[in-house]
Amino acid sequence: MRKVIVTGAGGFIGHHLVNFLKSKGDYVIGVDIKKPEFEATKCDKFVIYDIREKSKLFEDLFIGIDDVWALAADMGGMGFISQNHATIMRNNVTININTLEAARKAKVKRYLYTSSACMYPVNFQTEEDSAPLAEDMAYPANPQHGYGWEKLYTEKLCEYYREEFGLDTRIVRFHNTYGPLGAWRGGREKAPAALSRKVAEAIRDGKDHIDIWGDGRQTRSFCYIDDTIKGLNLLMESGYTKPLNMGRDEMVSINELADTVMKAAGVKLKKVYVDGPQGVRGRNSDNSLCKKILGWAPEIDLETGISKTYEWIKTQVEKNQGAQY
Ligand code: NAD
Repeated sequence: MRKVIVTGAGGFIGHHLVNFLKSKGDYVIGVDIKKPEFEATKCDKFVIYDIREKSKLFEDLFIGIDDVWALAADMGGMGFISQNHATIMRNNVTININTLEAARKAKVKRYLYTSSACMYPVNFQTEEDSAPLAEDMAYPANPQHGYGWEKLYTEKLCEYYREEFGLDTRIVRFHNTYGPLGAWRGGREKAPAALSRKVAEAIRDGKDHIDIWGDGRQTRSFCYIDDTIKGLNLLMESGYTKPLNMGRDEMVSINELADTVMKAAGVKLKKVYVDGPQGVRGRNSDNSLCKKILGWAPEIDLETGISKTYEWIKTQVEKNQGAQY
Protein backbone atom coordinates (compact mmCIF):
# COMPACT_ATOMS: atom_id res chain seq x y z
CA MET A 1 0.00 0.00 0.00
CA ARG A 2 1.38 3.42 -0.96
CA LYS A 3 0.84 6.30 1.39
CA VAL A 4 0.02 9.45 -0.58
CA ILE A 5 -1.01 13.07 -0.16
CA VAL A 6 -3.37 14.79 -2.59
CA THR A 7 -3.45 18.57 -2.20
CA GLY A 8 -6.58 20.13 -3.67
CA ALA A 9 -8.48 16.91 -2.79
CA GLY A 10 -11.64 18.99 -2.31
CA GLY A 11 -11.50 20.20 -5.91
CA PHE A 12 -12.63 18.76 -9.22
CA ILE A 13 -9.62 16.76 -10.45
CA GLY A 14 -8.37 16.09 -6.90
CA HIS A 15 -11.65 14.44 -5.88
CA HIS A 16 -11.72 12.19 -8.96
CA LEU A 17 -8.05 11.34 -8.39
CA VAL A 18 -8.74 10.37 -4.77
CA ASN A 19 -11.49 7.99 -5.95
CA PHE A 20 -9.03 6.39 -8.37
CA LEU A 21 -6.20 6.10 -5.83
CA LYS A 22 -8.55 4.54 -3.28
CA SER A 23 -9.72 2.00 -5.90
CA LYS A 24 -6.01 1.05 -6.30
CA GLY A 25 -5.66 0.56 -2.56
CA ASP A 26 -3.52 3.60 -1.64
CA TYR A 27 -3.74 5.19 1.80
CA VAL A 28 -4.78 8.76 0.93
CA ILE A 29 -4.43 11.96 2.91
CA GLY A 30 -6.35 14.83 1.33
CA VAL A 31 -5.51 18.46 2.06
CA ASP A 32 -7.68 21.40 1.01
CA ILE A 33 -9.36 24.50 2.38
CA LYS A 34 -12.70 22.80 1.74
CA LYS A 35 -14.19 19.32 1.42
CA PRO A 36 -15.56 18.20 -1.97
CA GLU A 37 -18.90 19.94 -2.54
CA PHE A 38 -20.87 17.28 -4.38
CA GLU A 39 -19.89 13.89 -2.98
CA ALA A 40 -18.29 12.58 0.21
CA THR A 41 -14.53 12.14 0.03
CA LYS A 42 -13.01 8.66 0.18
CA CYS A 43 -9.77 9.98 1.73
CA ASP A 44 -8.56 7.99 4.73
CA LYS A 45 -7.79 11.32 6.33
CA PHE A 46 -8.95 14.74 5.11
CA VAL A 47 -7.17 17.77 6.55
CA ILE A 48 -8.82 21.15 6.14
CA TYR A 49 -5.80 23.42 5.85
CA ASP A 50 -4.76 26.60 4.02
CA ILE A 51 -1.47 25.62 2.37
CA ARG A 52 -0.42 29.27 2.12
CA GLU A 53 0.43 28.86 5.81
CA LYS A 54 3.80 27.22 6.46
CA SER A 55 3.66 25.17 9.66
CA LYS A 56 4.99 22.11 11.45
CA LEU A 57 1.46 20.68 11.38
CA PHE A 58 1.48 20.77 7.56
CA GLU A 59 5.06 19.52 7.21
CA ASP A 60 4.46 16.62 9.60
CA LEU A 61 1.74 15.28 7.26
CA PHE A 62 4.47 14.50 4.72
CA ILE A 63 6.53 12.24 7.00
CA GLY A 64 6.46 8.69 5.60
CA ILE A 65 4.64 9.73 2.42
CA ASP A 66 5.46 7.95 -0.84
CA ASP A 67 3.72 10.17 -3.41
CA VAL A 68 2.62 13.80 -3.42
CA TRP A 69 -0.01 14.82 -5.97
CA ALA A 70 0.16 18.63 -5.92
CA LEU A 71 -3.17 19.86 -7.27
CA ALA A 72 -4.10 22.68 -4.90
CA ALA A 73 -4.42 26.00 -6.71
CA ASP A 74 -6.45 29.16 -6.66
CA MET A 75 -7.98 28.82 -10.11
CA GLY A 76 -11.07 28.88 -12.29
CA GLY A 77 -12.25 29.56 -15.81
CA MET A 78 -11.38 32.61 -17.94
CA GLY A 79 -13.76 34.86 -15.97
CA PHE A 80 -11.74 34.25 -12.80
CA ILE A 81 -8.17 33.89 -14.04
CA SER A 82 -8.30 36.96 -16.30
CA GLN A 83 -9.17 39.27 -13.42
CA ASN A 84 -7.17 38.18 -10.36
CA HIS A 85 -3.55 38.10 -11.49
CA ALA A 86 -1.90 39.24 -8.24
CA THR A 87 -4.10 37.11 -5.99
CA ILE A 88 -3.60 34.02 -8.13
CA MET A 89 0.18 34.40 -8.39
CA ARG A 90 0.64 35.17 -4.70
CA ASN A 91 -1.59 32.31 -3.55
CA ASN A 92 -0.29 29.68 -5.95
CA VAL A 93 3.39 30.52 -5.57
CA THR A 94 2.98 30.29 -1.79
CA ILE A 95 1.01 27.02 -1.97
CA ASN A 96 3.61 25.43 -4.24
CA ILE A 97 6.69 26.58 -2.32
CA ASN A 98 5.21 25.32 0.95
CA THR A 99 4.26 21.96 -0.61
CA LEU A 100 7.65 21.45 -2.28
CA GLU A 101 9.45 22.34 0.94
CA ALA A 102 7.38 19.93 3.01
CA ALA A 103 8.05 17.18 0.44
CA ARG A 104 11.78 17.92 0.35
CA LYS A 105 12.15 17.89 4.13
CA ALA A 106 10.23 14.62 4.46
CA LYS A 107 12.15 13.08 1.52
CA VAL A 108 8.99 11.82 -0.18
CA LYS A 109 9.55 9.33 -2.99
CA ARG A 110 7.65 10.99 -5.89
CA TYR A 111 6.10 14.42 -6.51
CA LEU A 112 3.67 15.32 -9.29
CA TYR A 113 2.94 18.98 -10.09
CA THR A 114 -0.12 20.00 -12.12
CA SER A 115 0.79 22.76 -14.56
CA SER A 116 -1.41 24.14 -17.34
CA ALA A 117 -1.38 24.87 -21.06
CA CYS A 118 -1.71 28.53 -19.96
CA MET A 119 2.10 28.48 -19.54
CA TYR A 120 2.64 28.29 -23.34
CA PRO A 121 3.62 31.51 -25.15
CA VAL A 122 0.54 33.51 -26.08
CA ASN A 123 2.18 34.44 -29.39
CA PHE A 124 1.60 30.85 -30.60
CA GLN A 125 -2.13 31.12 -29.83
CA THR A 126 -3.29 34.14 -31.80
CA GLU A 127 -5.31 32.33 -34.53
CA GLU A 128 -8.41 30.16 -34.31
CA ASP A 129 -6.47 27.38 -36.06
CA SER A 130 -3.16 27.89 -34.21
CA ALA A 131 -0.81 24.90 -34.45
CA PRO A 132 -1.02 22.41 -31.55
CA LEU A 133 1.28 23.27 -28.65
CA ALA A 134 4.19 20.89 -28.19
CA GLU A 135 6.27 20.72 -25.02
CA ASP A 136 9.37 22.24 -26.64
CA MET A 137 7.46 25.42 -27.58
CA ALA A 138 7.53 26.73 -23.99
CA TYR A 139 10.59 28.97 -24.45
CA PRO A 140 11.25 31.84 -25.07
CA ALA A 141 8.61 32.32 -22.38
CA ASN A 142 5.54 34.45 -22.92
CA PRO A 143 2.79 32.80 -20.83
CA GLN A 144 -0.71 33.98 -20.11
CA HIS A 145 -0.75 36.71 -17.43
CA GLY A 146 -0.86 35.75 -13.75
CA TYR A 147 -1.98 32.12 -13.73
CA GLY A 148 0.23 31.10 -16.69
CA TRP A 149 3.33 32.81 -15.32
CA GLU A 150 2.91 31.08 -11.97
CA LYS A 151 2.57 27.68 -13.66
CA LEU A 152 5.78 28.24 -15.60
CA TYR A 153 7.60 29.48 -12.47
CA THR A 154 6.58 26.40 -10.48
CA GLU A 155 7.57 24.07 -13.33
CA LYS A 156 11.06 25.59 -13.03
CA LEU A 157 10.97 25.30 -9.26
CA CYS A 158 10.19 21.57 -9.58
CA GLU A 159 13.07 21.18 -12.03
CA TYR A 160 15.45 22.94 -9.62
CA TYR A 161 14.23 20.90 -6.62
CA ARG A 162 14.95 17.82 -8.66
CA GLU A 163 18.46 18.95 -9.63
CA GLU A 164 19.53 20.42 -6.29
CA PHE A 165 17.64 18.29 -3.75
CA GLY A 166 16.99 15.07 -5.66
CA LEU A 167 13.19 15.34 -5.38
CA ASP A 168 11.72 12.94 -7.96
CA THR A 169 9.34 15.30 -9.75
CA ARG A 170 6.79 14.91 -12.57
CA ILE A 171 5.09 17.82 -14.36
CA VAL A 172 1.83 17.58 -16.26
CA ARG A 173 0.54 20.37 -18.49
CA PHE A 174 -3.23 19.97 -18.48
CA HIS A 175 -5.30 21.33 -21.31
CA ASN A 176 -8.98 21.80 -20.38
CA THR A 177 -10.36 18.92 -18.34
CA TYR A 178 -14.09 18.66 -17.73
CA GLY A 179 -16.73 16.34 -16.33
CA PRO A 180 -19.22 15.90 -13.49
CA LEU A 181 -18.52 16.99 -9.89
CA GLY A 182 -16.71 20.22 -10.86
CA ALA A 183 -17.50 23.91 -10.37
CA TRP A 184 -20.62 24.74 -12.42
CA ARG A 185 -21.62 28.16 -11.05
CA GLY A 186 -20.23 31.04 -9.01
CA GLY A 187 -17.59 32.35 -11.44
CA ARG A 188 -14.91 29.62 -11.26
CA GLU A 189 -16.59 27.24 -13.72
CA LYS A 190 -14.94 26.58 -17.08
CA ALA A 191 -16.57 26.66 -20.52
CA PRO A 192 -18.07 23.11 -20.67
CA ALA A 193 -19.70 23.54 -17.24
CA ALA A 194 -20.77 27.15 -17.87
CA LEU A 195 -22.40 26.27 -21.20
CA SER A 196 -24.10 23.22 -19.71
CA ARG A 197 -25.52 25.39 -16.92
CA LYS A 198 -26.69 28.09 -19.35
CA VAL A 199 -28.49 25.53 -21.54
CA ALA A 200 -30.11 23.79 -18.54
CA GLU A 201 -31.25 27.15 -17.14
CA ALA A 202 -32.59 28.32 -20.51
CA ILE A 203 -34.69 25.15 -20.78
CA ARG A 204 -35.89 25.53 -17.17
CA ASP A 205 -36.79 29.20 -17.68
CA GLY A 206 -38.31 28.80 -21.16
CA LYS A 207 -35.69 31.04 -22.85
CA ASP A 208 -34.81 30.70 -26.52
CA HIS A 209 -31.13 31.70 -26.26
CA ILE A 210 -27.87 31.48 -24.32
CA ASP A 211 -25.08 34.05 -23.98
CA ILE A 212 -21.65 33.31 -25.44
CA TRP A 213 -18.58 35.36 -24.47
CA GLY A 214 -17.03 36.94 -27.57
CA ASP A 215 -17.86 35.67 -31.07
CA GLY A 216 -17.65 32.00 -30.05
CA ARG A 217 -14.98 31.30 -32.68
CA GLN A 218 -12.16 31.02 -30.12
CA THR A 219 -10.94 27.41 -29.97
CA ARG A 220 -9.78 24.95 -27.29
CA SER A 221 -9.54 21.21 -26.72
CA PHE A 222 -11.45 19.41 -23.97
CA CYS A 223 -10.48 16.19 -22.22
CA TYR A 224 -12.93 14.13 -20.17
CA ILE A 225 -11.96 13.61 -16.53
CA ASP A 226 -11.73 9.78 -16.69
CA ASP A 227 -9.12 10.01 -19.46
CA THR A 228 -7.21 12.66 -17.50
CA ILE A 229 -7.08 10.51 -14.36
CA LYS A 230 -5.77 7.51 -16.31
CA GLY A 231 -3.08 9.65 -17.95
CA LEU A 232 -2.08 11.24 -14.67
CA ASN A 233 -1.51 7.86 -13.05
CA LEU A 234 0.53 6.66 -16.04
CA LEU A 235 2.70 9.76 -15.74
CA MET A 236 3.35 9.18 -12.03
CA GLU A 237 4.31 5.56 -12.76
CA SER A 238 6.41 6.41 -15.83
CA GLY A 239 9.45 7.98 -14.23
CA TYR A 240 9.32 10.69 -16.94
CA THR A 241 10.46 13.93 -15.33
CA LYS A 242 10.08 16.62 -18.01
CA PRO A 243 6.81 18.52 -18.59
CA LEU A 244 4.20 16.57 -20.55
CA ASN A 245 0.97 17.70 -22.20
CA MET A 246 -2.27 16.02 -21.17
CA GLY A 247 -5.38 16.90 -23.11
CA ARG A 248 -7.39 15.95 -26.16
CA ASP A 249 -6.00 17.01 -29.50
CA GLU A 250 -9.31 17.79 -31.18
CA MET A 251 -9.71 21.54 -31.48
CA VAL A 252 -13.28 22.84 -31.19
CA SER A 253 -14.66 26.36 -31.16
CA ILE A 254 -16.79 27.57 -28.27
CA ASN A 255 -19.69 27.67 -30.78
CA GLU A 256 -19.13 23.96 -31.52
CA LEU A 257 -18.89 23.20 -27.83
CA ALA A 258 -22.23 25.00 -27.27
CA ASP A 259 -23.78 23.00 -30.13
CA THR A 260 -22.54 19.77 -28.54
CA VAL A 261 -24.13 20.75 -25.21
CA MET A 262 -27.42 21.62 -26.95
CA LYS A 263 -27.38 18.29 -28.76
CA ALA A 264 -26.92 16.50 -25.42
CA ALA A 265 -29.88 18.49 -24.06
CA GLY A 266 -31.99 17.85 -27.18
CA VAL A 267 -32.57 21.57 -27.92
CA LYS A 268 -31.55 24.23 -30.41
CA LEU A 269 -31.13 27.65 -28.81
CA LYS A 270 -29.97 30.94 -30.32
CA LYS A 271 -26.47 32.11 -29.42
CA VAL A 272 -26.30 35.72 -28.31
CA TYR A 273 -22.75 37.10 -28.42
CA VAL A 274 -21.82 39.31 -25.47
CA ASP A 275 -18.64 40.93 -24.16
CA GLY A 276 -16.62 38.68 -21.89
CA PRO A 277 -13.07 37.44 -21.29
CA GLN A 278 -11.98 34.99 -23.96
CA GLY A 279 -8.30 34.27 -23.28
CA VAL A 280 -6.14 33.27 -26.22
CA ARG A 281 -7.73 32.93 -29.67
CA GLY A 282 -6.83 29.31 -30.35
CA ARG A 283 -5.25 26.48 -28.35
CA ASN A 284 -4.78 22.78 -28.93
CA SER A 285 -2.62 20.05 -27.45
CA ASP A 286 0.11 18.27 -29.38
CA ASN A 287 -0.06 14.78 -27.90
CA SER A 288 2.85 13.23 -29.82
CA LEU A 289 5.20 13.12 -26.84
CA CYS A 290 2.54 11.95 -24.44
CA LYS A 291 1.60 9.07 -26.76
CA LYS A 292 5.25 8.12 -27.15
CA ILE A 293 6.16 8.30 -23.44
CA LEU A 294 2.97 6.99 -21.84
CA GLY A 295 1.17 5.24 -24.70
CA TRP A 296 -1.77 7.39 -23.58
CA ALA A 297 -4.41 9.03 -25.73
CA PRO A 298 -7.87 10.14 -24.63
CA GLU A 299 -10.59 7.59 -25.45
CA ILE A 300 -13.78 9.49 -24.60
CA ASP A 301 -15.11 11.64 -27.42
CA LEU A 302 -16.56 15.10 -26.85
CA GLU A 303 -20.20 14.09 -27.36
CA THR A 304 -19.99 11.28 -24.82
CA GLY A 305 -18.16 13.39 -22.24
CA ILE A 306 -20.40 16.42 -22.67
CA SER A 307 -23.49 14.27 -22.46
CA LYS A 308 -22.40 12.91 -19.03
CA THR A 309 -21.41 16.38 -17.87
CA TYR A 310 -24.65 17.98 -19.05
CA GLU A 311 -26.78 15.34 -17.30
CA TRP A 312 -24.99 16.00 -14.01
CA ILE A 313 -25.22 19.80 -14.30
CA LYS A 314 -28.89 19.62 -15.30
CA THR A 315 -29.53 17.77 -12.04
CA GLN A 316 -27.65 20.44 -10.09
CA VAL A 317 -29.67 23.21 -11.77
CA GLU A 318 -32.93 21.39 -10.95
CA LYS A 319 -31.86 20.81 -7.33
CA ASN A 320 -30.98 24.48 -6.93
CA GLN A 321 -34.19 25.81 -8.45
CA GLY A 322 -34.94 29.25 -7.04
CA ALA A 323 -31.51 29.54 -5.40
CA GLN A 324 -29.57 32.76 -5.97
CA TYR A 325 -26.23 32.17 -7.64
P1 NAD B 1 -10.24 23.10 -8.49
O1 NAD B 1 -10.36 24.58 -8.28
O2 NAD B 1 -11.50 22.32 -8.61
O3 NAD B 1 -9.34 22.45 -7.36
C1 NAD B 1 -8.28 23.14 -6.73
C2 NAD B 1 -8.44 22.95 -5.24
O4 NAD B 1 -7.37 23.65 -4.57
C3 NAD B 1 -9.76 23.51 -4.69
O5 NAD B 1 -10.52 22.51 -4.03
C4 NAD B 1 -9.32 24.60 -3.73
O6 NAD B 1 -10.14 24.73 -2.57
C5 NAD B 1 -7.91 24.14 -3.37
N1 NAD B 1 -7.13 25.26 -2.82
C6 NAD B 1 -7.09 26.54 -3.29
N2 NAD B 1 -6.34 27.29 -2.48
C7 NAD B 1 -5.92 26.48 -1.47
C8 NAD B 1 -5.13 26.70 -0.32
N3 NAD B 1 -4.62 27.91 -0.05
N4 NAD B 1 -4.88 25.66 0.50
C9 NAD B 1 -5.40 24.43 0.24
N5 NAD B 1 -6.17 24.16 -0.85
C10 NAD B 1 -6.42 25.18 -1.70
O7 NAD B 1 -9.33 22.91 -9.79
P2 NAD B 1 -9.04 21.59 -10.65
O8 NAD B 1 -9.69 21.78 -11.95
O9 NAD B 1 -9.31 20.39 -9.85
O10 NAD B 1 -7.47 21.76 -10.88
C11 NAD B 1 -6.49 20.98 -10.20
C12 NAD B 1 -5.11 21.40 -10.68
O11 NAD B 1 -5.01 21.24 -12.10
C13 NAD B 1 -4.78 22.87 -10.40
O12 NAD B 1 -3.42 23.00 -10.10
C14 NAD B 1 -5.08 23.54 -11.72
O13 NAD B 1 -4.35 24.74 -11.87
C15 NAD B 1 -4.64 22.47 -12.70
N6 NAD B 1 -5.29 22.61 -14.02
C16 NAD B 1 -6.59 22.29 -14.18
C17 NAD B 1 -7.18 22.43 -15.45
C18 NAD B 1 -8.61 22.06 -15.70
O14 NAD B 1 -9.06 22.09 -16.86
N7 NAD B 1 -9.42 21.71 -14.71
C19 NAD B 1 -6.42 22.90 -16.53
C20 NAD B 1 -5.10 23.22 -16.31
C21 NAD B 1 -4.52 23.06 -15.06
